[in-house]
Amino acid sequence: MSPTCKVDSTSSQLTESDLDITPPRKITKINKHRQQKFRDTWLKNDDYKQWLSKVPDDQYKAKCRTWNVIMNAELTVIKNHMTSKTHLRKPLASQQSISTFIKKTDEISTKAKASQALELKLCGFLAEHNISFTTLDHLTTLLKSSVPDSEIVKNMQMKSTKGTAIVKNVIVEAEKEYLEKNCRSVGSVF
Ligand SMILES: [Zn+2]
Repeated sequence: MSPTCKVDSTSSQLTESDLDITPPRKITKINKHRQQKFRDTWLKNDDYKQWLSKVPDDQYKAKCRTWNVIMNAELTVIKNHMTSKTHLRKPLASQQSISTFIKKTDEISTKAKASQALELKLCGFLAEHNISFTTLDHLTTLLKSSVPDSEIVKNMQMKSTKGTAIVKNVIVEAEKEYLEKNCRSVGSVF
């Protein structure tokens, strides 16, 4: 009798204590989550009233009017959203977009000009040193593969046909004008 009684008492004590501790904790946790409803006082709060609103069909949800975001109607969720990147960053991004756009287009135009200058200099170099313009095909490929981090090199488009055209139409014409001016000034001296 006595050993069975001992076993019964200890086992029952253990299960009772287990039951006493665990179930209430679970219940309170679940209840806390379920009971969060939208509170009208939030609409009067200076921090929330400019962007927070109710969701008509769901009292457990709240809505950010600024970005049309639906979230759980929990104060922690609302506070987290208010300080989140999605809520704060976007207005800043739209303010910055114009100036960054202008900066970017400036950068693009200066880089495009630098690419053109590089094309002209390479052409001038080849012409000056009497190097065949067919080497441009290989030189451009070589530069692009060797300097992959340069936008200027990346944007340059210089093959032998274009190089020849640049020399004929740009450099030769410029040289002609330069020579003509020099000849005139020389002629005026004589
Ligand atoms: Zn928001």
